[in-house]
Amino acid sequence: MKRDVDTSLWGQATKLVRGGTERSEYGETSEAIYMNSGFCYESAEEAELRFRGEVPGYVYARYGGPTQGMLEERLRMMEGAEACRVVASGMAAVFVSLMAGIRPGDRVVASRALFGSCHYIITQILPRFQVETVLVDGRDLGAWQKALGEKTAYVFLESPSNPTLELVDIAAVSAMAHEVGACVIVDNIFATPILQHPLVLGADVVVYSTTKHIDGQGRSLGGAILGSKSFIEEVVTPFHRHSGPAMSPFNAWLALKGLETLPLRVERHCANALAIARYLETSPAIERVIYPGLPSHPQYELAKRQMSSGGTMVAFVVKGGKVGAFEAMDRLEIIDISNNLGDTKSLITHPATTTHRNVDAGMRAEMGLSEGLLRLSVGIEDVADLIRDLDQALGAVLPSRGA
Ligand SMILES: *Cc1c(COP(=O)(O)O)cnc(C)c1O
Repeated sequence: MKRDVDTSLWGQATKLVRGGTERSEYGETSEAIYMNSGFCYESAEEAELRFRGEVPGYVYARYGGPTQGMLEERLRMMEGAEACRVVASGMAAVFVSLMAGIRPGDRVVASRALFGSCHYIITQILPRFQVETVLVDGRDLGAWQKALGEKTAYVFLESPSNPTLELVDIAAVSAMAHEVGACVIVDNIFATPILQHPLVLGADVVVYSTTKHIDGQGRSLGGAILGSKSFIEEVVTPFHRHSGPAMSPFNAWLALKGLETLPLRVERHCANALAIARYLETSPAIERVIYPGLPSHPQYELAKRQMSSGGTMVAFVVKGGKVGAFEAMDRLEIIDISNNLGDTKSLITHPATTTHRNVDAGMRAEMGLSEGLLRLSVGIEDVADLIRDLDQALGAVLPSRGA
Protein backbone atom coordinates (compact mmCIF):
# COMPACT_ATOMS: atom_id res chain seq x y z
CA MET A 1 0.00 0.00 0.00
CA LYS A 2 1.15 3.54 -0.55
CA ARG A 3 3.16 4.80 2.38
CA ASP A 4 1.31 8.06 2.95
CA VAL A 5 -2.25 6.66 3.13
CA ASP A 6 -4.07 7.27 6.43
CA THR A 7 -5.32 3.76 7.17
CA SER A 8 -6.86 4.77 10.50
CA LEU A 9 -10.00 5.80 8.59
CA TRP A 10 -10.39 2.41 6.89
CA GLY A 11 -13.38 0.22 7.64
CA GLN A 12 -13.03 -3.50 8.35
CA ALA A 13 -13.61 -4.72 4.77
CA THR A 14 -10.97 -2.35 3.37
CA LYS A 15 -8.46 -3.46 6.01
CA LEU A 16 -9.14 -7.12 5.19
CA VAL A 17 -8.60 -6.61 1.44
CA ARG A 18 -5.70 -4.15 1.52
CA GLY A 19 -4.16 -4.04 5.00
CA GLY A 20 -0.44 -4.79 5.13
CA THR A 21 0.04 -5.23 1.37
CA GLU A 22 3.67 -4.54 0.37
CA ARG A 23 4.33 -4.54 -3.37
CA SER A 24 7.66 -5.50 -4.89
CA GLU A 25 9.24 -3.51 -7.73
CA TYR A 26 7.01 -5.49 -10.14
CA GLY A 27 3.83 -3.89 -8.81
CA GLU A 28 1.89 -7.16 -8.57
CA THR A 29 -1.85 -6.76 -7.78
CA SER A 30 -2.15 -9.75 -5.47
CA GLU A 31 0.34 -10.20 -2.66
CA ALA A 32 3.46 -12.09 -3.76
CA ILE A 33 4.60 -15.30 -2.05
CA TYR A 34 8.20 -15.02 -0.81
CA MET A 35 8.98 -18.71 -0.62
CA ASN A 36 12.52 -18.37 0.79
CA SER A 37 14.12 -19.48 4.02
CA GLY A 38 17.08 -17.08 4.10
CA PHE A 39 17.95 -13.50 3.18
CA CYS A 40 21.15 -11.98 1.75
CA TYR A 41 22.91 -8.81 2.89
CA GLU A 42 24.82 -6.19 0.91
CA SER A 43 27.74 -6.38 3.34
CA ALA A 44 28.97 -8.01 6.51
CA GLU A 45 28.26 -4.73 8.27
CA GLU A 46 24.64 -4.82 7.13
CA ALA A 47 24.22 -8.38 8.42
CA GLU A 48 25.59 -7.25 11.78
CA LEU A 49 23.21 -4.28 11.95
CA ARG A 50 20.17 -6.37 10.98
CA PHE A 51 20.97 -8.96 13.62
CA ARG A 52 21.34 -6.16 16.16
CA GLY A 53 17.92 -4.86 15.03
CA GLU A 54 19.48 -1.50 14.18
CA VAL A 55 18.40 -1.54 10.54
CA PRO A 56 15.05 -2.96 9.42
CA GLY A 57 14.86 -6.15 7.38
CA TYR A 58 14.34 -9.87 7.65
CA VAL A 59 17.07 -12.30 8.68
CA TYR A 60 15.60 -15.82 8.55
CA ALA A 61 12.17 -17.30 7.80
CA ARG A 62 11.93 -18.89 11.25
CA TYR A 63 11.90 -15.32 12.59
CA GLY A 64 9.58 -14.01 9.88
CA GLY A 65 9.42 -13.03 6.22
CA PRO A 66 7.65 -10.64 3.87
CA THR A 67 4.57 -12.83 3.28
CA GLN A 68 4.14 -13.60 6.98
CA GLY A 69 4.80 -9.90 7.70
CA MET A 70 1.98 -8.80 5.40
CA LEU A 71 -0.37 -11.23 7.15
CA GLU A 72 0.70 -10.02 10.60
CA GLU A 73 0.00 -6.41 9.65
CA ARG A 74 -3.39 -7.24 8.08
CA LEU A 75 -4.45 -9.25 11.16
CA ARG A 76 -3.17 -6.52 13.47
CA MET A 77 -5.26 -3.90 11.68
CA MET A 78 -8.30 -6.19 11.65
CA GLU A 79 -8.16 -6.83 15.40
CA GLY A 80 -7.14 -3.30 16.39
CA ALA A 81 -4.18 -4.80 18.28
CA GLU A 82 -0.77 -3.22 18.82
CA ALA A 83 1.07 -6.25 17.43
CA CYS A 84 0.65 -9.71 15.93
CA ARG A 85 2.78 -12.83 15.50
CA VAL A 86 1.71 -15.61 13.15
CA VAL A 87 2.55 -19.25 13.90
CA ALA A 88 2.25 -22.68 12.29
CA SER A 89 -1.17 -23.68 13.66
CA GLY A 90 -3.95 -22.62 15.99
CA MET A 91 -2.56 -24.92 18.66
CA ALA A 92 0.87 -23.32 18.29
CA ALA A 93 -0.88 -19.97 18.93
CA VAL A 94 -2.55 -21.32 22.08
CA PHE A 95 0.62 -23.04 23.31
CA VAL A 96 3.01 -20.15 22.61
CA SER A 97 0.68 -17.55 24.10
CA LEU A 98 0.58 -19.51 27.37
CA MET A 99 4.06 -21.02 27.47
CA ALA A 100 6.17 -18.05 26.33
CA GLY A 101 5.90 -16.18 29.61
CA ILE A 102 4.88 -18.76 32.18
CA ARG A 103 7.03 -19.59 35.24
CA PRO A 104 6.98 -22.45 37.78
CA GLY A 105 4.60 -21.56 40.58
CA ASP A 106 2.32 -19.54 38.30
CA ARG A 107 -1.41 -20.07 38.41
CA VAL A 108 -3.70 -20.41 35.37
CA VAL A 109 -7.49 -20.25 35.53
CA ALA A 110 -9.44 -21.50 32.50
CA SER A 111 -13.00 -22.21 31.49
CA ARG A 112 -13.53 -25.97 31.42
CA ALA A 113 -15.47 -26.09 28.13
CA LEU A 114 -12.44 -26.14 25.85
CA PHE A 115 -11.30 -27.64 22.56
CA GLY A 116 -9.68 -31.05 23.29
CA SER A 117 -6.08 -29.92 22.61
CA CYS A 118 -6.50 -26.71 24.65
CA HIS A 119 -7.82 -28.89 27.47
CA TYR A 120 -4.73 -31.12 27.13
CA ILE A 121 -2.30 -28.18 27.39
CA ILE A 122 -4.05 -26.80 30.47
CA THR A 123 -4.61 -30.08 32.32
CA GLN A 124 -1.66 -32.25 31.15
CA ILE A 125 1.25 -30.11 29.97
CA LEU A 126 1.22 -27.04 32.24
CA PRO A 127 1.07 -29.02 35.53
CA ARG A 128 4.33 -30.77 34.55
CA PHE A 129 6.05 -27.40 34.93
CA GLN A 130 4.73 -26.72 38.43
CA VAL A 131 1.95 -24.54 37.09
CA GLU A 132 -1.25 -24.68 39.11
CA THR A 133 -4.26 -24.91 36.81
CA VAL A 134 -7.87 -24.37 37.85
CA LEU A 135 -10.86 -25.13 35.62
CA VAL A 136 -14.15 -23.35 36.17
CA ASP A 137 -17.64 -23.47 34.70
CA GLY A 138 -17.12 -20.57 32.29
CA ARG A 139 -20.79 -19.55 32.40
CA ASP A 140 -20.75 -18.98 36.15
CA LEU A 141 -19.37 -15.55 37.17
CA GLY A 142 -19.44 -16.65 40.83
CA ALA A 143 -17.09 -19.53 39.98
CA TRP A 144 -14.73 -17.14 38.20
CA GLN A 145 -14.85 -14.77 41.18
CA LYS A 146 -13.94 -17.61 43.54
CA ALA A 147 -11.13 -18.93 41.33
CA LEU A 148 -9.75 -15.42 40.85
CA GLY A 149 -9.50 -14.73 44.55
CA GLU A 150 -5.70 -14.93 44.49
CA LYS A 151 -2.78 -13.86 42.32
CA THR A 152 -3.11 -15.45 38.86
CA ALA A 153 -0.79 -15.25 35.85
CA TYR A 154 -3.15 -16.18 33.01
CA VAL A 155 -6.83 -16.60 32.32
CA PHE A 156 -7.63 -18.71 29.26
CA LEU A 157 -11.08 -19.05 27.74
CA GLU A 158 -13.02 -19.96 24.61
CA SER A 159 -16.32 -18.26 23.82
CA PRO A 160 -18.35 -19.77 22.26
CA SER A 161 -16.76 -23.02 23.36
CA ASN A 162 -16.04 -26.04 21.21
CA PRO A 163 -18.36 -27.96 20.86
CA THR A 164 -21.07 -27.08 23.39
CA LEU A 165 -21.26 -23.39 22.45
CA GLU A 166 -21.13 -22.11 26.02
CA LEU A 167 -20.34 -18.42 26.39
CA VAL A 168 -18.12 -16.59 28.84
CA ASP A 169 -18.85 -12.97 29.74
CA ILE A 170 -15.50 -11.66 28.47
CA ALA A 171 -15.89 -8.13 29.87
CA ALA A 172 -16.83 -9.30 33.38
CA VAL A 173 -14.13 -12.00 33.56
CA SER A 174 -11.46 -9.63 32.20
CA ALA A 175 -12.29 -7.08 34.90
CA MET A 176 -12.00 -9.73 37.67
CA ALA A 177 -8.80 -11.14 36.17
CA HIS A 178 -7.13 -7.74 36.05
CA GLU A 179 -7.85 -7.27 39.79
CA VAL A 180 -5.43 -10.15 40.50
CA GLY A 181 -2.91 -9.23 37.82
CA ALA A 182 -3.85 -11.91 35.28
CA CYS A 183 -3.33 -11.65 31.53
CA VAL A 184 -6.55 -12.69 29.75
CA ILE A 185 -6.12 -14.85 26.63
CA VAL A 186 -9.22 -15.47 24.51
CA ASP A 187 -9.41 -18.24 21.91
CA ASN A 188 -11.73 -16.40 19.50
CA ILE A 189 -11.78 -19.11 16.86
CA PHE A 190 -15.46 -20.07 17.09
CA ALA A 191 -16.61 -16.44 17.17
CA THR A 192 -14.37 -15.48 14.21
CA PRO A 193 -12.72 -12.03 14.06
CA ILE A 194 -15.88 -10.69 12.44
CA LEU A 195 -18.43 -11.44 15.16
CA GLN A 196 -16.62 -10.72 18.44
CA HIS A 197 -13.83 -8.35 19.50
CA PRO A 198 -12.26 -9.60 22.76
CA LEU A 199 -9.70 -6.76 23.00
CA VAL A 200 -12.54 -4.21 22.93
CA LEU A 201 -14.31 -6.24 25.65
CA GLY A 202 -11.21 -6.00 27.88
CA ALA A 203 -9.12 -9.10 27.08
CA ASP A 204 -5.34 -8.75 26.67
CA VAL A 205 -4.52 -11.37 24.05
CA VAL A 206 -6.52 -12.97 21.22
CA VAL A 207 -5.55 -16.21 19.49
CA TYR A 208 -6.77 -17.60 16.16
CA SER A 209 -6.43 -20.72 14.12
CA THR A 210 -6.22 -19.34 10.57
CA THR A 211 -6.97 -22.94 9.54
CA LYS A 212 -10.61 -22.25 10.38
CA HIS A 213 -12.68 -19.37 8.95
CA ILE A 214 -9.69 -17.21 7.96
CA ASP A 215 -8.41 -19.62 5.32
CA GLY A 216 -11.88 -21.08 5.46
CA GLN A 217 -11.46 -23.38 2.49
CA GLY A 218 -9.69 -26.36 4.03
CA ARG A 219 -6.30 -25.71 2.44
CA SER A 220 -3.80 -24.92 5.19
CA LEU A 221 -2.87 -24.75 8.86
CA GLY A 222 -1.94 -21.55 10.62
CA GLY A 223 -2.37 -19.51 13.77
CA ALA A 224 -2.02 -15.99 15.10
CA ILE A 225 -1.42 -14.27 18.45
CA LEU A 226 -2.51 -10.65 18.88
CA GLY A 227 -1.90 -8.35 21.81
CA SER A 228 0.14 -5.46 23.15
CA LYS A 229 3.48 -4.53 21.60
CA SER A 230 5.27 -5.50 24.81
CA PHE A 231 3.60 -8.94 25.06
CA ILE A 232 4.22 -9.81 21.40
CA GLU A 233 7.73 -8.37 21.09
CA GLU A 234 9.16 -9.13 24.54
CA VAL A 235 7.34 -12.33 25.56
CA VAL A 236 6.11 -14.11 22.41
CA THR A 237 8.79 -13.20 19.85
CA PRO A 238 11.90 -14.56 21.63
CA PHE A 239 10.08 -17.83 22.45
CA HIS A 240 8.80 -18.09 18.86
CA ARG A 241 12.20 -17.40 17.28
CA HIS A 242 14.08 -19.92 19.34
CA SER A 243 11.50 -22.71 19.60
CA GLY A 244 10.53 -22.63 15.91
CA PRO A 245 6.73 -22.85 15.34
CA ALA A 246 7.04 -20.63 12.24
CA MET A 247 4.23 -20.28 9.70
CA SER A 248 5.19 -21.16 6.13
CA PRO A 249 5.07 -18.31 3.58
CA PHE A 250 2.64 -20.29 1.43
CA ASN A 251 0.19 -20.76 4.31
CA ALA A 252 0.55 -17.07 5.18
CA TRP A 253 -0.40 -16.22 1.60
CA LEU A 254 -3.48 -18.48 1.73
CA ALA A 255 -4.55 -16.77 4.96
CA LEU A 256 -4.03 -13.32 3.37
CA LYS A 257 -6.27 -14.27 0.45
CA GLY A 258 -8.81 -15.82 2.84
CA LEU A 259 -9.06 -12.61 4.87
CA GLU A 260 -10.17 -10.70 1.76
CA THR A 261 -13.47 -12.59 1.57
CA LEU A 262 -13.87 -13.34 5.30
CA PRO A 263 -16.73 -10.91 6.05
CA LEU A 264 -18.74 -12.14 3.04
CA ARG A 265 -18.26 -15.78 3.93
CA VAL A 266 -18.99 -15.30 7.64
CA GLU A 267 -22.21 -13.45 6.83
CA ARG A 268 -23.39 -16.37 4.68
CA HIS A 269 -22.20 -18.99 7.21
CA CYS A 270 -24.22 -17.23 9.94
CA ALA A 271 -27.39 -16.82 7.88
CA ASN A 272 -27.27 -20.52 6.95
CA ALA A 273 -26.54 -21.53 10.57
CA LEU A 274 -29.51 -19.58 11.93
CA ALA A 275 -31.86 -21.12 9.35
CA ILE A 276 -30.56 -24.61 10.14
CA ALA A 277 -30.83 -24.08 13.91
CA ARG A 278 -34.44 -22.96 13.46
CA TYR A 279 -35.17 -25.99 11.30
CA LEU A 280 -33.57 -28.37 13.83
CA GLU A 281 -35.78 -26.97 16.60
CA THR A 282 -38.78 -28.29 14.64
CA SER A 283 -37.31 -31.79 14.06
CA PRO A 284 -38.80 -34.60 16.17
CA ALA A 285 -35.47 -36.49 15.95
CA ILE A 286 -33.68 -33.82 17.99
CA GLU A 287 -33.55 -33.60 21.76
CA ARG A 288 -31.90 -30.21 22.01
CA VAL A 289 -30.49 -27.52 19.72
CA ILE A 290 -27.65 -25.29 20.93
CA TYR A 291 -27.18 -22.08 18.95
CA PRO A 292 -26.25 -18.74 20.58
CA GLY A 293 -28.45 -16.87 18.09
CA LEU A 294 -31.67 -18.57 19.25
CA PRO A 295 -33.71 -17.35 22.25
CA SER A 296 -33.63 -20.97 23.52
CA HIS A 297 -29.87 -20.65 24.20
CA PRO A 298 -29.45 -20.14 27.98
CA GLN A 299 -27.03 -17.26 27.34
CA TYR A 300 -28.91 -15.61 24.47
CA GLU A 301 -28.80 -12.18 26.16
CA LEU A 302 -25.01 -12.38 26.60
CA ALA A 303 -24.63 -13.55 23.00
CA LYS A 304 -26.53 -10.46 21.82
CA ARG A 305 -24.31 -8.26 23.97
CA GLN A 306 -20.89 -9.55 22.98
CA MET A 307 -21.38 -11.09 19.51
CA SER A 308 -22.87 -9.49 16.43
CA SER A 309 -24.57 -12.76 15.40
CA GLY A 310 -25.13 -16.30 16.66
CA GLY A 311 -22.12 -17.63 14.76
CA THR A 312 -21.32 -20.28 12.20
CA MET A 313 -21.56 -23.39 14.39
CA VAL A 314 -24.65 -25.30 15.52
CA ALA A 315 -24.63 -28.14 18.06
CA PHE A 316 -27.54 -30.52 18.56
CA VAL A 317 -28.37 -33.66 20.49
CA VAL A 318 -29.92 -36.46 18.45
CA LYS A 319 -32.37 -38.78 20.19
CA GLY A 320 -30.94 -42.26 20.71
CA GLY A 321 -27.46 -41.27 21.92
CA LYS A 322 -24.40 -42.41 19.97
CA VAL A 323 -26.40 -44.86 17.82
CA GLY A 324 -28.88 -42.19 16.75
CA ALA A 325 -26.10 -39.68 16.09
CA PHE A 326 -24.02 -42.13 14.01
CA GLU A 327 -27.08 -43.23 12.01
CA ALA A 328 -27.91 -39.62 11.14
CA MET A 329 -24.30 -38.83 10.18
CA ASP A 330 -23.98 -41.87 7.96
CA ARG A 331 -27.11 -40.96 6.01
CA LEU A 332 -25.96 -37.44 5.12
CA GLU A 333 -25.39 -36.99 1.39
CA ILE A 334 -24.06 -33.43 1.11
CA ILE A 335 -22.69 -32.59 4.57
CA ASP A 336 -19.30 -34.26 5.08
CA ILE A 337 -18.16 -36.08 8.22
CA SER A 338 -15.04 -34.17 9.26
CA ASN A 339 -13.58 -32.76 12.46
CA ASN A 340 -12.42 -29.59 10.68
CA LEU A 341 -14.59 -26.47 10.93
CA GLY A 342 -15.06 -22.99 9.56
CA ASP A 343 -14.95 -24.33 6.00
CA THR A 344 -17.06 -23.29 2.99
CA LYS A 345 -18.24 -26.92 2.99
CA SER A 346 -20.63 -27.97 5.77
CA LEU A 347 -18.89 -30.45 8.09
CA ILE A 348 -20.31 -32.55 10.90
CA THR A 349 -18.53 -34.29 13.75
CA HIS A 350 -19.30 -36.47 16.77
CA PRO A 351 -17.05 -34.83 19.39
CA ALA A 352 -17.32 -37.55 22.07
CA THR A 353 -15.52 -40.09 19.81
CA THR A 354 -13.18 -37.71 17.95
CA THR A 355 -12.09 -34.18 18.98
CA HIS A 356 -12.97 -34.69 22.67
CA ARG A 357 -12.07 -38.39 22.94
CA ASN A 358 -9.20 -37.50 25.32
CA VAL A 359 -11.46 -35.67 27.77
CA ASP A 360 -12.58 -38.20 30.38
CA ALA A 361 -16.23 -39.22 30.46
CA GLY A 362 -16.92 -37.48 33.77
CA MET A 363 -15.60 -34.18 32.49
CA ARG A 364 -17.49 -34.64 29.20
CA ALA A 365 -20.71 -35.04 31.18
CA GLU A 366 -19.89 -31.89 33.20
CA MET A 367 -19.29 -30.03 29.93
CA GLY A 368 -22.70 -31.18 28.62
CA LEU A 369 -20.96 -33.13 25.90
CA SER A 370 -23.33 -36.06 25.60
CA GLU A 371 -23.07 -39.15 23.41
CA GLY A 372 -25.83 -37.89 21.11
CA LEU A 373 -24.24 -34.48 20.55
CA LEU A 374 -23.24 -33.51 17.01
CA ARG A 375 -21.35 -30.39 16.04
CA LEU A 376 -22.22 -28.91 12.66
CA SER A 377 -19.91 -26.38 11.05
CA VAL A 378 -22.32 -24.72 8.66
CA GLY A 379 -20.92 -24.00 5.21
CA ILE A 380 -21.91 -21.51 2.53
CA GLU A 381 -23.84 -23.90 0.26
CA ASP A 382 -27.51 -23.22 -0.60
CA VAL A 383 -29.24 -23.53 2.75
CA ALA A 384 -32.27 -25.30 1.24
CA ASP A 385 -29.98 -28.13 0.12
CA LEU A 386 -28.44 -28.41 3.59
CA ILE A 387 -31.82 -28.49 5.32
CA ARG A 388 -33.08 -31.11 2.86
CA ASP A 389 -29.97 -33.19 3.55
CA LEU A 390 -30.43 -32.98 7.34
CA ASP A 391 -34.14 -33.67 7.01
CA GLN A 392 -33.65 -36.90 5.03
CA ALA A 393 -30.87 -38.05 7.38
CA LEU A 394 -32.81 -37.30 10.59
CA GLY A 395 -36.19 -38.37 9.22
CA ALA A 396 -34.80 -41.69 8.10
CA VAL A 397 -33.42 -42.60 11.52
CA LEU A 398 -36.72 -42.08 13.30
CA PRO A 399 -38.74 -45.18 12.31
CA SER A 400 -35.93 -47.62 13.18
CA ARG A 401 -36.12 -46.36 16.77
CA GLY A 402 -39.93 -46.54 16.75
CA ALA A 403 -40.26 -42.83 17.51
C1 LIG B 1 -9.21 -25.83 15.70
C2 LIG B 1 -9.14 -25.15 16.99
C3 LIG B 1 -7.89 -24.91 17.58
C4 LIG B 1 -6.60 -25.38 16.96
O1 LIG B 1 -6.33 -24.90 15.68
P1 LIG B 1 -5.37 -25.71 14.66
O2 LIG B 1 -5.12 -24.75 13.55
O3 LIG B 1 -6.12 -26.94 14.27
O4 LIG B 1 -4.13 -26.07 15.42
C5 LIG B 1 -7.88 -24.27 18.81
N1 LIG B 1 -9.01 -23.87 19.42
C6 LIG B 1 -10.23 -24.08 18.87
C7 LIG B 1 -11.45 -23.58 19.56
C8 LIG B 1 -10.33 -24.72 17.64
O5 LIG B 1 -11.53 -24.94 17.09
